[in-house]
Amino acid sequence: MAAMVLDGRALAREMRDDLSLRVAAYVAQHYHTPTLGVIHVYGDRSAERYVRSLQISCNRVGMNFKYYLLHHTATQRELESAIYTFSADPNVDGIIIQMPLPIKYDSAAAVGQLDHRKDIDGVHPINVGLLNQNKPSLVPNTPAGGMLILERYGIELAGRDAVVIGRSAIVGGPMSTMLLNAEATVEICHRATRNLADKVRRADVVVTAAGKIGLVTGDMLKPGATVIDFGINVRPDNTICGDVDYASAFEVAGAITPVPGGTGPVTTMVLLNNVLKAAIATHVDIDDDMAQC
Ligand code: ADP
Repeated sequence: MAAMVLDGRALAREMRDDLSLRVAAYVAQHYHTPTLGVIHVYGDRSAERYVRSLQISCNRVGMNFKYYLLHHTATQRELESAIYTFSADPNVDGIIIQMPLPIKYDSAAAVGQLDHRKDIDGVHPINVGLLNQNKPSLVPNTPAGGMLILERYGIELAGRDAVVIGRSAIVGGPMSTMLLNAEATVEICHRATRNLADKVRRADVVVTAAGKIGLVTGDMLKPGATVIDFGINVRPDNTICGDVDYASAFEVAGAITPVPGGTGPVTTMVLLNNVLKAAIATHVDIDDDMAQC
């Protein structure tokens, strides 16, 4: 039986329309345009393309975009000073440090310099801790988008067995926490996991965030399982695919995200939504203070 396609593009369109309206209402009320600040140590062209696409997405929902581009010779101190500049700038509401940083930088120290109230990637230790305590504030966008897809398509999580393949700090790790917070029973698999196929076969919900083409195939799935594929891999012919072999998985799964058109478009909308959330958290407080003066 063919799977239900979990259409991320359709959900992203709905989110964009809703966000544009909420941004316009916010601007009219607070005379401030929510602004995303991106800090980028120049590395490769694909990262630059991603940053430009973020700028376009920001402008489409009525937000501003500020870009702090550092040369690859910049020191750790210069990087942290850029982070401090955006953190202290009242016009910047949400900040992204484009990851991964070149190896010479201490990423954890850089992230520690962020104002956690502007940490729209949810990577600051305070935000990571709040998610782990099931009191989420700003959370990583990619897994939050995956959870929204599950919610939107009415996929039950409480009491279900979930397998998450990948344990990165920005995708696999927080996705396992979010699934756990939603009362699923979660098994986390990674590079050193043995018998991956056996674990996947028992799962009602399979999440992949490993960056490996063909890691999960249809014959590994429990019939009717839900599959969320966060992989974004480039094939030799330059086309994009996920970690899951879509054709074979589609025949066995109950529901599946395509790549492209699944988790990716939703990620950007969650990110922009976090910018507005951060703006509301800071500027509404300021307005309240002014009202009391
Ligand atoms: P991302 O930031 O997109 O999550 P990373 O490269 O940081 O990607 O992390 C990849 C994750 O995938 C790691 O946790 C790694 O252990 C896991 N992984 C990579 N290859 C395999 C594999 N063959 N089987 C299971 N897990 C894998």
